[in-house]
Amino acid sequence: MTQSNAAFLTKLGWRLISKPTSLWSRVVRSKYCHGLCDVDMFKASSNCSNLWKGIVANAPFVMQGSQVAVGNGQTTLFWNHKWATNHPLIEFWAGNGIASEYLPLSALKQIQAHEVSYQNDLSDALFWNAGPNGNFSIKSSLSIIRNDSHSNPDPHWGLVWSAVAQNRGRFFIWLAMHNRLLCNENRMKRHLTDDSSCGLCNHETESILHMLRDCEHAKVIWNKVCHQRIKQDFFGCNDPKEWIANHAQCPRASNPDSWAITFPLTLWWIWKWRNQSLFIYGANIPLDEVAFIKDKVAETCNALCNERLQAISSIQQQQIYIQWKPPCYGWVALNTDGAAKGCPGAAGAGGILRDHRGICISFFFANLHTCTAIKAELLALKHGLEIAWSKNIQQVDVRLDSKACMQILERDNDYQGPNMQIIKLCKQIILRLEWIVTLTHCYRESNKAADWLSNHGISHDSRLEIDTVPP
Ligand SMILES: [Zn+2]
Repeated sequence: MTQSNAAFLTKLGWRLISKPTSLWSRVVRSKYCHGLCDVDMFKASSNCSNLWKGIVANAPFVMQGSQVAVGNGQTTLFWNHKWATNHPLIEFWAGNGIASEYLPLSALKQIQAHEVSYQNDLSDALFWNAGPNGNFSIKSSLSIIRNDSHSNPDPHWGLVWSAVAQNRGRFFIWLAMHNRLLCNENRMKRHLTDDSSCGLCNHETESILHMLRDCEHAKVIWNKVCHQRIKQDFFGCNDPKEWIANHAQCPRASNPDSWAITFPLTLWWIWKWRNQSLFIYGANIPLDEVAFIKDKVAETCNALCNERLQAISSIQQQQIYIQWKPPCYGWVALNTDGAAKGCPGAAGAGGILRDHRGICISFFFANLHTCTAIKAELLALKHGLEIAWSKNIQQVDVRLDSKACMQILERDNDYQGPNMQIIKLCKQIILRLEWIVTLTHCYRESNKAADWLSNHGISHDSRLEIDTVPP
């Protein structure tokens, strides 16, 4: 209840800074904020209303969730707004109070990846960075309040969702990892029982690990399905989350006939049979449980293999289209590509303009310092478009190999996020009346030249280099 209250107050705080011209914002700002900027305005006085006190108390969550997409840079506070990195830059040296170290190299490189626009109408824009699409939601603010932000998801989540198990099995594993299964130990904590012992073997505490691993019945099964190599420290770990995370790996990364399939399936059946023998009279439990589990593992392996074969055959079908093709007569093809080694990481952009005979008109590469892959893709497109424009080309056939980038560009102007200003700029250039620009998605294999140039950009010193004879 307190958390949802805080989330609603965060929403009001966000409304104040994101919609400063709305009537409500203007009234509240004139009453409490005394013309201060959004970083300084959340201050309570002794005689202010409870609502305002609540908004002020939750302002740190507003600051945590909001970020600036820099356009012309006119309203962004260099030190106090969050724009280049995941924190306001001032936090990098607020700790020691000494500016001699200035900023860490990682932050400097992310600043270098920014380009301030000289267009006056491309103003800076605020967006909500905690949600997936840049818009505020109560859910995302709750996750900030619970210190469970989207940018730092629990690394164990991925494991759970990739573990081979049907949905009910996945949810069960998730419950087990978070100590939420109703074993007697947990029931006693909730005053649902006064006996914490195991119903099967009378061991004094029925913990999650006892139910799933250490109880006599479970131990017999594990000892038969475990390889010798795994058995060594299988029973040693005392934290259910760690134990499950250690064993539930992604099966796609390794041989499907592996522990990654056996482990979650065994876990699920041990749990199921245990419940049946405790709560169902005359339960239908297979005589040879280990053989039953091995059958299930084989079934799952087969299903996975078929899935893979289908994926491979669909790739082969697509291979017909993946060679670079020259554009139609009168058109110029622009292939662009961005590369980033990490997220964010060292990044580069590259692109090449070729005419209908396949002859190179111009190419470029750029060092983008540190940014995300999607930003690198977008900056590559922007540079490519600007170069094509400067060469007075009338018809441009743009080809990108990034699906994510295409999707963002195809969306209406409702996209909000760190790259919204670059996207706006690209769209403005594309929509100029003096030329025709088409955008198509191409396969990576037909975009090799641009790909090579973008990687070349990473290792090159210059911010942007344009030439007509390929290196
Ligand atoms: Zn037991």
